[in-house]
Amino acid sequence: MDLGIRGRTAAVAAASAGLGLASARALVEAGVTVAICGRDEGRITAAARQLGDSAVALVCDVDTESGGRMFVEQAIDKLGRLDILVTNGGGPPAGTFGTTPQAEYAKALEKSLLSVVGMCSAAIPGMQERGWGRVVAITSSAVRQPIPNLILSNTARAGVTGFLKTVARETAGEGVTVNTVQPGIHATDRILQLYGANADPVTLGIPTGRLGDPTDFGQVVAFLCSEQAKFITGANVQVDGGAYAGLI
Ligand code: NAD
Repeated sequence: MDLGIRGRTAAVAAASAGLGLASARALVEAGVTVAICGRDEGRITAAARQLGDSAVALVCDVDTESGGRMFVEQAIDKLGRLDILVTNGGGPPAGTFGTTPQAEYAKALEKSLLSVVGMCSAAIPGMQERGWGRVVAITSSAVRQPIPNLILSNTARAGVTGFLKTVARETAGEGVTVNTVQPGIHATDRILQLYGANADPVTLGIPTGRLGDPTDFGQVVAFLCSEQAKFITGANVQVDGGAYAGLI
């Protein structure tokens, strides 16, 4: 399927591995030129090399509002303009209400909420001026169903979802769509480290009986960036193999 975005430009944050890299790869396959970022020069350069001539590597840390903003500003500098933004980043540390010091909440909000505010603030005004834009945020299934022992992630990701829903409705009339994709458990390096290579999907509560494939996830992100997805905005798309058991 031709996604109708050949020749467009994109910034994909935290894309030296995992879901970010898979999203960047799917966009490149659709004919998009991408700027990707990571903190380690060697790893992000290797990732861009894997993606080919349509990818530019930037060394940026998107853990803060200013880091997120700087990544997008550098991407615009390299690409000339930005049509597509995919926000992503590492998750906040684990912990419960009882074990998490209060000071950690501000750090988690900076990492998982304000960094996205920074990226959107740098990217969206240009999209509005040109009358076309796509923002897709990689969040977590924790927004729909909070995950035990991840109180910081559960809190910050709910906040960023409220921010993006508001922006989606404010920019919908200007050709800009803003959506989130909520991953359930996917077979990325991080997850394989956490659960082991033989993680049992059934024990993990995944009715389809297998972990998510990052390549499939990337294709979902690319579709939300497509021309055909122009009527989808403000949506929170769960990609979790049926793990979420609620109705809405
Ligand atoms: P991953 O660790 O496999 O990949 C993340 C990539 O981002 C790594 O290359 C890492 O070096 C880079 N990165 C991390 N922090 C960064 C920063 N501050 N600046 C720049 N680059 C940075 O992770 P993943 O599994 O692809 O997950 C991506 C996001 O999705 C995370 O926020 C994670 O919590 C969330 N998530 C993932 C899953 C899953 O099953 N993989 C499920 C729910 C939520």
